[in-house]
Amino acid sequence: MSKNAKRDTPEQEEFRRYCRDWLASNVPAAPNFKPLKNGAEVATQQHLEYYSVWQKSAYDAGLVGCDYPVEYGGGGRTHCQSIANQEMLRAKTPILPGAIGLGMAAPTIFFHGSESLKQRLLPKLLSGEELWCQGFSEPGAGSDLASVQTFAERRGDKWVINGHKVWTSTAQFATWMILLARTDKSDKYNGLTYFVVPIKSELGKSVTVRPLIKITGETGFNEELFDDLEIDDAFRLDDVGKGWQVAMTTLAHERGAGPLTTPMSGGQGLAEDKDSKPKSERSEFPLIKLAQHCVRNGEPAIDDPVIRDKVMNMLIRQVGIKQNRRLRRVPGLADSQRLTLQDKLLGTEYLQDSAALALEIEGPAGTLSNFDSAAPDNGMWPLAYLSSFGGTIAAGTSEIQRNILGERILGLDKSK
Ligand SMILES: Cc1cc2nc3c(=O)[nH]c(=O)nc-3n(C[C@H](O)[C@H](O)[C@H](O)COP(=O)(O)OP(=O)(O)OC[C@H]3O[C@@H](n4cnc5c(N)ncnc54)[C@H](O)[C@@H]3O)c2cc1C
Repeated sequence: MSKNAKRDTPEQEEFRRYCRDWLASNVPAAPNFKPLKNGAEVATQQHLEYYSVWQKSAYDAGLVGCDYPVEYGGGGRTHCQSIANQEMLRAKTPILPGAIGLGMAAPTIFFHGSESLKQRLLPKLLSGEELWCQGFSEPGAGSDLASVQTFAERRGDKWVINGHKVWTSTAQFATWMILLARTDKSDKYNGLTYFVVPIKSELGKSVTVRPLIKITGETGFNEELFDDLEIDDAFRLDDVGKGWQVAMTTLAHERGAGPLTTPMSGGQGLAEDKDSKPKSERSEFPLIKLAQHCVRNGEPAIDDPVIRDKVMNMLIRQVGIKQNRRLRRVPGLADSQRLTLQDKLLGTEYLQDSAALALEIEGPAGTLSNFDSAAPDNGMWPLAYLSSFGGTIAAGTSEIQRNILGERILGLDKSK
């Protein structure tokens, strides 16, 4: 029995057994493309179809949206989504493409949406039939999110929206967007209002979605131009002028500290869910395996004392991050803002530094791409290195995480 299972209530124990039984015969066959690691990587119609079918099937079986009320399309359970997540992780299921919807839009709509919006939007969001994207960032508003300029002008019981959003993950497939817009130019924070916006339907024809190409050469990012998009006031969440407070609910869930746990992905390199066994952890550590196979000065790189030292430092950091995650199992710490901020900061910087070290170990072979059969580890490290910068920027840059940790957790003076 795993450590997680030992803490189950009788209801959770029964649900865990149900998840295991269902997953034992329903995990789909591997796709005929390289499996994706998270919903933001969905880039082709083929990806979308494969992962959407999986989300729908997991939803129909009751493994997605378990803790949402039945009237909103959920399973009506309590504290069961984390069980389903653990079991999906254990069964190495595919990722869920509707991660932005599940992780950010759903809890925000749940806590701030009207009854009719919840009933209308949540069922298809949870099932993955409608994908969502997050329209927060703009060319002049990223870290300083409250500077958004996209303007929603009230006309009777309608709003007319004009502006420019950018860096919007998966907007090319999304039918809906959570949108932070300015409704009053004279008040930075209280002049913001939060909407849910159809960007693909007949209503959404006034929104142009343009793809942006990432440093990795992949698609996934987009920018959107709003040109007199008219929506009903019914698409507003919470009161006019309360957009900043609603956005904080979204950000708390984006950073993993929200009260509604949701499945974000099928398998993560740093997940600490399995019972950890330090010895196998060492022999399985990817940088050790890589250093055993790469040659440096005519010897296996693992025999180079400098490389050994650097690899062991990375292993120690990885173990530290996993132990930090274990603290979140302690009652009362599960939603700890400190642990969540620390985890995001340490985890994304760890991924970046470990990819950089992998390239150092590979030496000149680190320039071979993932299309080259001679590339070590199938060329995953150059791609991992380029992708890692997104991790230290998205959902709050490392500098911003450090500022928040310093100011809100350590009580230091506010930065200018
Ligand atoms: C992979 C990825 C996915 C994303 N997906 C989405 C999405 O789906 N929807 C969306 O709305 N946005 C998305 N973003 C955008 C993301 O939220 C912004 O890039 C991020 O908030 C930083 O904003 P910026 O790019 O405007 O940089 P800026 O805010 O201009 O920052 C530039 C630099 O200045 C530093 N800096 C800024 N302010 C301070 C300060 N006060 N103290 C110290 N340093 C500071 C930053 O750390 C950074 O190094 C995504 C970004 C990435 C990388």
